[in-house]
Amino acid sequence: MPLKKLDESQYSIPTQLLYGKSVSEAWDYSHHVIPPITSSSTFRLDSSERGALAFGALGKLSDGRADPMYVYDRMGEPNNLMLEHALAVAEQAEFGMTFASGMAAVQAASTFLLERGSEVIAHSTLYGCTYSLFTHWFPKFGFKVHMCNLSKPASFLSLVTPQTRVLYLESPANPTLELLDLERIVKLVRELNATRSESERIVTVIDNTFATPWCQRPISFGVDVVLHSLTKGISGFGTHMGGAVLTRKEFYGPLFMNRKDFGGILSPQTAWHILNYGVATLGLRIPRQQANAMKVAKFLEEHPKIGQVRYPGLPSFPQYDLAQRMLKDYEGNFAPGFMIYFSLKGKTPDDSKVQGAKMMDFVAQNSYTVTLAVSLGHLRTLIEHPGSTTHVAYSAEEQIKAGMEPGGIRLSVGIENPDDVIRDLDQALGSVS
Ligand code: PLP
Repeated sequence: MPLKKLDESQYSIPTQLLYGKSVSEAWDYSHHVIPPITSSSTFRLDSSERGALAFGALGKLSDGRADPMYVYDRMGEPNNLMLEHALAVAEQAEFGMTFASGMAAVQAASTFLLERGSEVIAHSTLYGCTYSLFTHWFPKFGFKVHMCNLSKPASFLSLVTPQTRVLYLESPANPTLELLDLERIVKLVRELNATRSESERIVTVIDNTFATPWCQRPISFGVDVVLHSLTKGISGFGTHMGGAVLTRKEFYGPLFMNRKDFGGILSPQTAWHILNYGVATLGLRIPRQQANAMKVAKFLEEHPKIGQVRYPGLPSFPQYDLAQRMLKDYEGNFAPGFMIYFSLKGKTPDDSKVQGAKMMDFVAQNSYTVTLAVSLGHLRTLIEHPGSTTHVAYSAEEQIKAGMEPGGIRLSVGIENPDDVIRDLDQALGSVS
C-alpha cells in the first residue's frame, strides 16, 4: 500500500529533520525505513519526447511534481534532492541546492547574479579561502570587491554604487566570532533597494557555517541567500565534504545553471550520509557541543595563562546583547554554538603567538581528546591557529585589520565529556612557561 501523504509541517523542526517528507517526490521509498542510496550517473528515458521535456524543464523547480524527471546526475538526482528538502526545512528556506564543498557553495552564492563590472561589498573578516576567492579570482573575472567592517552596519553605505549586486556577510565570522546585526543590515539594504530597479537590486548573502541552522536562521531576519559548508556542523561526523545554498524560488534558475555548468555537484553517496547521519542528528549533537563549549569557555576565561576568550555565550563577549538576539535555537533559546576563539597571555602579541604555538604543539603530541587539525563542528574537539593555516590568504597586517590576533587560537568543541577536554587543555596550558 502506498504511504499516505501526511502534513509534516505540524511537527517540530528537529522531528522533520529526522523523518523528512512523509511522501517524497524525490523517490518512492515507501517501503524503506531509511531511504536508499542511489548510484546511477545517468537515467533511462522512456522516449525521446521525455528526454526533450526533461531538458526543457532544467532550471525550473518541480514544485511538488510527483514524477521528477531525472536525466543525468549533474542535473539532479534523488539523494541530493532529499538532502536539499531537509536543509530547506532547517534554514526555513524555499529551496536548497547542494554543492561539492563549502567553497563551491561560496562561489555559486556570491557570483550567480554577477556579470563583468558587477561589484560586491564583503565583510572584512571571512574564511581564508573566501577571502582568497574574492581578492585573487574575482578581479580576474571583472568583479570588483570592496571590504568593510559590517559590525558597524552603516559602514557599507559609502561603498555602494549602481553596480553593487551583492552584500556578502559571514556571521559568526571565522575565526573571530564577530557577529553582524542582520536585522539592521537588511533594513539598510531594503531602503537602498526601494529606489533601485529590479536588475540593480542588492542581494544579501551570508555564510552561516559557524552557527549551523540550529543556532541562527538568517532568512528569518530577511537575508536573501544563506550558504553552508556542510563539511562542518551539518555533516558533523568529520567524514564528508559538501556545501549548500538556501534561498527563495526566484533564484532557483541561475543557481541551478551555475551548478550544472560549473559542475560542482555533491555525490549521491555523500548526500545520503549527510542526510541520514548529519542532518538527522543535528538536534543531538549541537546542543551537546554547545553545553560543552560553555563549560570549556568558562574554564579558559578563569585560567591565569589565558589572555582573552571570545565565546558568544559568555557575558564578557563584546557583542553579548547582539548574540542573544541573533543566535537562537528552534524553540527560541539562546544558542551560542560550539566555537571558541582565545589567546594566551604574552608580553607582546608575538609572544602570545609563541606561547599559543607551544600549547598547540603539546596538544598535538599529548592530548587524547583535543586534536590539532583544521575544520570544525565535528564530534571531536579540534584546535588550530588560523593565522598560519586557514587564514594565511590574509597578510599579517590584513589579519590584524580584520580583528584577528597574531596568537588567536580557534577551538571547535565536540561531544566528549567536557571534563576530559578541560583536563587536556589544562595540561597543555601547564606546559607553557
Ligand atoms: N565557510 C566557512 C566559514 C568555513 O569555515 C569553510 C571551511 O573551513 C568554508 C566556508 C569552506 O568549506 P569547505 O571546506 O567545505 O569547502
